[in-house]
Amino acid sequence: MKLEGKIAVVTGASKGIGAGIARAFGAAGATVIVNYASSQSDADAVVAQIREQGGQAVAIPADMSKAADVTRLFDKVRSEYGTLDVLVNNAGVAVFQMIEDLTEEAFHQQFNLNVLGYLLAVREAVKLFGASASIINISSILSTDPYLASSVYSATKGAVDTLTFALARELGPRGIRVNSILPGHTNTPATDGNFAGEFGDKLIAGTPLGRFGEPEDIAPLAVFLASGDSHWITGESIRASGGVRGVGY
Ligand code: NAP
Repeated sequence: MKLEGKIAVVTGASKGIGAGIARAFGAAGATVIVNYASSQSDADAVVAQIREQGGQAVAIPADMSKAADVTRLFDKVRSEYGTLDVLVNNAGVAVFQMIEDLTEEAFHQQFNLNVLGYLLAVREAVKLFGASASIINISSILSTDPYLASSVYSATKGAVDTLTFALARELGPRGIRVNSILPGHTNTPATDGNFAGEFGDKLIAGTPLGRFGEPEDIAPLAVFLASGDSHWITGESIRASGGVRGVGY
């Protein structure tokens, strides 16, 4: 029960990596705010799973790319709990396009959620944090090892790693730690079907541990970074990828 008594917001927790982290946080004793955009039934299922394990959770919708929604989410956290200990910025979107197909819409969709959304959530969360807190930003190994046709998405994740370090400096004196996790190829609804065939075979061949990741492979690192066990760690970008280095395709 490493997170007993802690209040944690996990954005984009209705499915995929966010849901895995929310479940692990609940099992570790945290009260989990399960944020989602539109999939209420999926978010309710995650809340039910956490409660079945004896944990506490509530689902709150908010489009994390919209400042008014983000503020409303954290206002609800304030009125319900009065404080916050952990923020996991996870809600993200990927659009893979060759540069000839770039649109302003795809650029803003990805940067507004993957970068602006993370910053807006931190802006609101710091108003609720107590004497110590942990922010965990879900980045990607593509921040350093971009796939083909991933220039915008990879740039958003490079920005996540940079803002992680910048915020660790800014918020360290207030006892707030900020780290990012860089998942590798992870089976989630977002990647369903993308890892099939020859491309998938290449990804596995480039993964020393020889398989795709699962959300449950990422969640223990998030629990560690949220807990006091990582009290001396901030400003770090940590890979959880089965050992992938230098994708090269
Ligand atoms: P996913 O399966 O598509 O799940 C995305 C989650 O984000 C869902 O809960 C979704 O909620 C929520 N969401 C989407 N747009 C939102 C918005 N505007 N506001 C609030 N929530 C929103 O994605 P995933 O694969 O788990 O990815 C999660 C994170 O890990 C992302 O930041 C992604 O970039 C990163 N990542 C993933 C991989 C991978 O291989 N899967 C690898 C590296 C990094 P609804 O269900 O309500 O739409």
